[in-house]
Amino acid sequence: MQTSTVPNLDTGFDRQNPPDPKLIDACVHCGFCLSTCPSYRVLGTEMDSPRGRIYLMDGINTGEIELNATSSQHFDTCLGCLSCVTTCPSGVAYDQLIEATRSQVERNQERSLPEKLLRKLILRCFPIPIACAG
Ligand code: SF4
Ligand code: SF4
Repeated sequence: MQTSTVPNLDTGFDRQNPPDPKLIDACVHCGFCLSTCPSYRVLGTEMDSPRGRIYLMDGINTGEIELNATSSQHFDTCLGCLSCVTTCPSGVAYDQLIEATRSQVERNQERSLPEKLLRKLILRCFPIPIACAG
């Protein structure tokens, strides 16, 4: 198991549990998942679909795409609903892929102060509804 958090300059992800290339390779790019993905249906862009995000993960893993504010925003738009997992005929473990990727984004992408505050507020309110009810 890899545990170092030293940035991997070859890939853009650090070495602590990057998205597994074997799981990425299970995607055959058929596009069946697109119709059930809410972020794709609302935003209409390939990079905001499961298939597009898997492309991005692969590109960042291979060093062809940089992990930066532009690429990471497409991971941020994923709702984590996992509709794509049940739709996928190839059994792609998108849940494991996005979990690994989110940790990478959190470790390696600086957030602006307003964004940090908003995320803190959301994390505080959503898991415990009663905390914000009164
Ligand atoms: S994630 Fe599954 S359904 Fe979506 S493009 Fe890849 S193989 Fe097809
Ligand atoms: S988990 Fe993300 S990629 Fe999968 S269907 Fe939901 S919003 Fe789309």
